[in-house]
Amino acid sequence: MTKLSDQKKTCFICGEINVYKAIASTNRFGHADLDTRPPEMERSTIHCWIQRCPSCSYCAPDISDGPEVATKVVKSDDYLKQGDDSSYPELANKFLCWAIIKEAKGDNSSAGWAAVKAAWACDDANKESGAKESRKRAVALFEQARGYGTSFAEGLGAEEAILADLLRRSGQFDKVETVCQDGLEEGPEAMVKTILHFQQSLARRKDTGCYTVAEAVEFADGK
Ligand SMILES: [Zn+2]
Repeated sequence: MTKLSDQKKTCFICGEINVYKAIASTNRFGHADLDTRPPEMERSTIHCWIQRCPSCSYCAPDISDGPEVATKVVKSDDYLKQGDDSSYPELANKFLCWAIIKEAKGDNSSAGWAAVKAAWACDDANKESGAKESRKRAVALFEQARGYGTSFAEGLGAEEAILADLLRRSGQFDKVETVCQDGLEEGPEAMVKTILHFQQSLARRKDTGCYTVAEAVEFADGK
């Protein structure tokens, strides 16, 4: 069972006090998606993972905290435009606003994960173009993070497995092969290897669908 609670919080930027939903408890039944999205019931708590101040539009996982740079970013044109972008669901805009703040802070890894969550919010709202754009954004942010020498996933080949899923689900099939080869050359553990082979197979079929880790294993067993 998921249990939610109400939490009174003071906005880090403007100081306004509002009540936000918080997860008191939740659970996971089944397997995560290939991009790490958790199964139910945690999956459906996504609307509690990000907060937006109704007064100043500051978006953050914890509205009462944040980096100093956010004070400036929330007033920028890019941020304000993203906050009200009607081509994305409201929930995705919140994650994408947080991504802008984290990118401004120089934390491209967290910014990339915020963009991934925006894609999940788009998936749930059947906003195909928003999901595609969010995944492209995540790929760009993760590649920048790597360029700066910071990692966004732990384990040999794990970053390539995440990138492969983002590329494939946003229809960039030609890049999946290379990124999977790079991951396989790192000599990853068996599970990551299975996932990379599965991604290659899906990309060759031009499949943009959502699959779980369990389905990757079934694919390997059925070979
Ligand atoms: Zn505020």
